[in-house]
Amino acid sequence: NTRVLLASRPHGEPTAENFTIETAPVPQPADGEVLLRTIYLSLDPYMRGRMNDAKSYAAPVEVGAVMEGGTVAEVVESRDPSLVPGDIVLCGLGWQTHGVLPANQVRKLDPSRAPISTAVGVLGMPGFTAYAGLLEIGRPQPGETVVVAAAAGPVGSAVGQIARIKGARAVGIAGGPEKVAFLRELGFDEALDHRSPTFKDDLKAVVPDGIDVYFENVGGHVWDAVLPRLNTYARVPVCGLVAHYNETELPAGPDRTSRLMQSILTKSITVRGFIQNEFVKTHYKDFQRDAAAWIADGSLQYKEDVVEGIENAPEAFFGLLTGKNFGKLLVKVGDD
Ligand code: NDP
Repeated sequence: NTRVLLASRPHGEPTAENFTIETAPVPQPADGEVLLRTIYLSLDPYMRGRMNDAKSYAAPVEVGAVMEGGTVAEVVESRDPSLVPGDIVLCGLGWQTHGVLPANQVRKLDPSRAPISTAVGVLGMPGFTAYAGLLEIGRPQPGETVVVAAAAGPVGSAVGQIARIKGARAVGIAGGPEKVAFLRELGFDEALDHRSPTFKDDLKAVVPDGIDVYFENVGGHVWDAVLPRLNTYARVPVCGLVAHYNETELPAGPDRTSRLMQSILTKSITVRGFIQNEFVKTHYKDFQRDAAAWIADGSLQYKEDVVEGIENAPEAFFGLLTGKNFGKLLVKVGDD
């Protein structure tokens, strides 16, 4: 069993020193448990938060423990009647090639329904985040303008495409010309490069009627450009702030909080943070039905960025926080 442990907590950007890669014996399942072999490990921005020793919505990974992560795995040995060797499951094995879990903590997948990797992508947590956050909080109406950044990633690409399915205009923001071209292929009405020196004006030019929904994935200079363009009654689902995850201190002044609050007040803006789990009970079934139908009819497309080998997980993860990934970032850990 090859596994990646959290060796130390990062200060700012994570580095190779924060991880240890080791080989350990393959564990044995007890009654009610299954031994699993990882096929795909999902790398997600939230993992940066788990490396900190800070109070948050989820407990941190302990130093010396296996890094957490969603996985698609194959059952190798089963000591529970609900699963047999060869079954493909969605589970949370973390950054390792093998692991043991109670059978009731894994969800069996139907490989004939969709490529198994989609269970941690467009048909899994990131796709669901886009669906629930956009429809429940953003509530895009036909003809409205929806803006989203990290738009070439799994959350943002789904946000823009679902916005279009609902009849809204989708403006996608991403880093670099290749990603911008990809957004156009996906059918975004407008696509912008946030690294362009004219980004702020570029955004202004493509939202002549202002912004009704800003799906916040990044914060930073994108948010600065968006705020003055928000319309009265705009909705801002706050999903992620990836531009700030490596920050070690507050940005230099002046403190503009009062200006922000003034905008929220005078334009009656709704700013609402969320963690996707809160919508599972109310929206997961609808999501699975709708996403499957949209993928089938071509209105919801997705892109994956697959890195080979568990030992390459740390390097791939660093790139996720700075935009080196292009699509849903996955580590191919074992054969499918
Ligand atoms: P992505 O695959 O889109 O990866 C993150 C992307 O953020 C990078 O590829 C990069 O794209 C972009 N980025 C990084 N730094 C900056 C910056 N300074 N300014 C602008 N863009 C930047 O990730 P996901 O789709 O998995 O996640 C998107 C967001 O959703 C994240 O913030 C994540 O934390 C959040 N999230 C929240 C959930 C919730 O329940 N609230 C659940 C799942 C995800 P580019 O090259 O385009 O700049």
